[in-house]
Amino acid sequence: MRFAPSPTGYLHVGGARTALFNFLYARQTGGEFLLRIEDTDRERSSEEMTGQILDAMHWLGLDVDEPPVHQADGVAQHRTAAQSLLASGAAYRSFVEPDELAAIRERARDEVVPIRRSMIGVSDDEAERRAADGEPHAVFFAVPDGVTEWDDVVHGVTRIQNDTIDDFVLLRSDATPVYNLAVVVDDLDMAITLVLRGDDHLSNTPKQVLIYGALGAQAPRFAHVPMILGADGKRLSKRHGAASVEAYREAGILPEALVNFLALLGWSPGDDREVMDLSELTEAFSLDRILKKASVFDAEKLEWLNGRHLALMSPDRLAPVVLDHLPEPERSCAEAEPERLHAVADLIRQRARTIQAMGDQSRPFFTPIEALQFDPTATAKHWKEPAQAAQRLAAVRDLLEASESIAAESLETDLRALAEQLGVGAGKLFQPLRVALMGSAESPGIFDVIVLLGRDRCVERLNRALEVLAEPPDAP
Ligand code: GLU
Repeated sequence: MRFAPSPTGYLHVGGARTALFNFLYARQTGGEFLLRIEDTDRERSSEEMTGQILDAMHWLGLDVDEPPVHQADGVAQHRTAAQSLLASGAAYRSFVEPDELAAIRERARDEVVPIRRSMIGVSDDEAERRAADGEPHAVFFAVPDGVTEWDDVVHGVTRIQNDTIDDFVLLRSDATPVYNLAVVVDDLDMAITLVLRGDDHLSNTPKQVLIYGALGAQAPRFAHVPMILGADGKRLSKRHGAASVEAYREAGILPEALVNFLALLGWSPGDDREVMDLSELTEAFSLDRILKKASVFDAEKLEWLNGRHLALMSPDRLAPVVLDHLPEPERSCAEAEPERLHAVADLIRQRARTIQAMGDQSRPFFTPIEALQFDPTATAKHWKEPAQAAQRLAAVRDLLEASESIAAESLETDLRALAEQLGVGAGKLFQPLRVALMGSAESPGIFDVIVLLGRDRCVERLNRALEVLAEPPDAP
């Protein structure tokens, strides 16, 4: 099994799914999972992108069994194969200039006939002579009469009439190999037995099958996986927002959630399971349940799965991930209090669907007092009457200061009693309090907040809020 990306951009989710299916099948069958970087297009390929692809695969847990093969290193071998096809008569030289070829192509299209040697080739003798004189030429594959077929793992037996396939280039006039030749030579060299890739390659497959035949080699099995579409039914691309693995990683999606999601795009376990990790997927995977129909990328479902995987994560793994998504100064504060970080992460994961959101929601728990800010929209709404708000906050501060220890249950009783004593509904006490403690009107349950901040930090924040409330309003 192999994954053969062209390093011309970030790893796309479609590519990641191809890699995943190959990985799952290799792991399940005890085969090898190999990576070939198809970098023959020198101008569009870069080392940096190769590094990014490897990094994204590693992040997803899709490590390869051997160091990657670089297609560009095999050019000599690709040329040798072209020479042997020339020698056997399966290929020929063409000296036709590009504009002449374009005109021939146009004529052939009008007459609905395929391009053949009779239109673009010369006799063997002439070809030998002109090549020996150093005249530039391309090497074309001579498509034979008949039918080309293969038994596609996903699409079943697929037959193509050869008269619908033009003779095609193997080596360009600068002697560089084209993709269809390189891919066959490399797959043979790497002893690939299953080529599983996107069905955008379906039109290349008959050409590759023909090359295998002409080389006297057995073609591998082919499995063409349907495309991933955006919600508008068009092929998923940047237009639909994030389309690279990197972008989801940055958006706080867990690798296990993305892997789970990608596996279910175009494959199903055959039962109603949805939340699965890599080992469960490996066990359940089977080629015959790859769907024939294109699948639609459902961002909502990805977030939902991410929430499920967050909820399943052990606090030990979760805490460092959250830490990674905290800005300074909160990050250093959280690092210094690993136990509190664990507890906060454990609480927040019930509410957040992405790690990004976990970072955002955990942040106020670790804000040092000097950096504490009160969101103006929240204060405008919940501290509308400063004197009244101050009275309520001071009452809570006094209550907390007087208590020996704090526990969520007794707090609830005490604070509800306090609200009654002040003659206000609980909400009218809790909302201003939330703003004072967390800086905004959004947070987990207020009692959990108080417990996780701890008494002293609560008192400190309440005093800070009281200072702000005591400041005279800005002069008009
Ligand atoms: N390099 C090709 C691509 O990125 C894949 C070729 C293949 O899998 O055969 O689309």
